[in-house]
Amino acid sequence: MGTYARQPLTIVRGEGVHVYDDHGTRYLDFTSGIAVCGLGHCHPALVAAATHQIQTLWHMSNLYLTEPQAHLAARLAAAAGMDRVFFSNSGAEANEAAIKLARRYSKQAHGAHKGEILTFQNSFHGRTIATVTATAQPKYQEGFGPLPNGFKYVDSFTMKSVLERVTEKTCAIMIEPIQGEGGVRPVPVSFLNELRAFCDARGLLLIFDEVQTGVGRTGSWLAWQQVGVKPDIVTMAKSLAGGLPMGAMLATERVAAAFAPGTHGSTFGGNPVAASAALAVLDVVLEDGFLDTVTRRGQQLYSALCALAARRTEIVDVRGMGLMWGIEFATPIAGDLVAACRKRGLLVLTAGANTLRLLPPLIVSAADVERAVAMIAEALQEVEA
Ligand SMILES: *Cc1c(COP(=O)(O)O)cnc(C)c1O
Repeated sequence: MGTYARQPLTIVRGEGVHVYDDHGTRYLDFTSGIAVCGLGHCHPALVAAATHQIQTLWHMSNLYLTEPQAHLAARLAAAAGMDRVFFSNSGAEANEAAIKLARRYSKQAHGAHKGEILTFQNSFHGRTIATVTATAQPKYQEGFGPLPNGFKYVDSFTMKSVLERVTEKTCAIMIEPIQGEGGVRPVPVSFLNELRAFCDARGLLLIFDEVQTGVGRTGSWLAWQQVGVKPDIVTMAKSLAGGLPMGAMLATERVAAAFAPGTHGSTFGGNPVAASAALAVLDVVLEDGFLDTVTRRGQQLYSALCALAARRTEIVDVRGMGLMWGIEFATPIAGDLVAACRKRGLLVLTAGANTLRLLPPLIVSAADVERAVAMIAEALQEVEA
């Protein structure tokens, strides 16, 4: 169906930071399949892990334990600083699970009236009916009513705005530590701290949607570990299995105890092939020094973009963390820039009409970063001319 405004390219092969189209033209991929191929394309360790598993056991259902899923649950919980994991196949499903767990826990702990969840302007939490309702952007909701009750939108990253929306029925606050689709907007750390204190004082749950920021994207396994504000529930997906479909919702023991057998489930969630790939992702990303390199590359990219912004007045802001960056322009030229970059052999994303979004593979080299910024500078010159 016509749900995608596709780029005029057919990609047939990928290797590391590059993809190739059906004419053999090579592109430097600064999209990583929208933050999914975090270790680039066809990483040998991931290919080996998935290949071995596909020759051993593809699927068994969650009526049985499988070894890759059990190992992954333990390692993922440890890496995320959480106690329990529920596996899904996508970010939206991970957020659905978070919404269900937050409500069920809160009703048990505080009463049946608890069920409302606060989300933020410009957020993005997915496309299912519940998660698109959690997504406080009208353009994603238009035409899909009636939307479910139980979500209230906070206008800004201030406690004043939170207090305008919180009620007796509120059970949780859900936020992306850096809003991705909504324009690459880092949430001030001071505000995340205020949210944590507020949730503790009111008996509310703090949910971080780390579907885009997770798996090393910001320079730590999860963004919360860098900003120092720990949520009660955290969701992941995108890069989790390096390109195979997988999501996860993690929670502390206290909260997770609200899910008993039969309360929630997924046919494919925690599939052994995806779980094996995810275990290989964990091995690579948590290897000594890997995340330090991500941080260093991110600083290099930020410096280069700031130097570009100093020369080009049409750039009004450069923001992000690790290897997740947005370049905001004074005018809606992001779409034209994507096309101009593509002509030069660079794939990039937008985040709204005014913002170019860069999500390079975490394995990107210093030379790749230089090449990319040079191509963006040329593309900007062309678009402005
Ligand atoms: C992409 C994304 C989602 C939705 O993930 P799907 O796998 O497309 O369902 C949810 N939240 C955030 C922050 C995302 O970036």
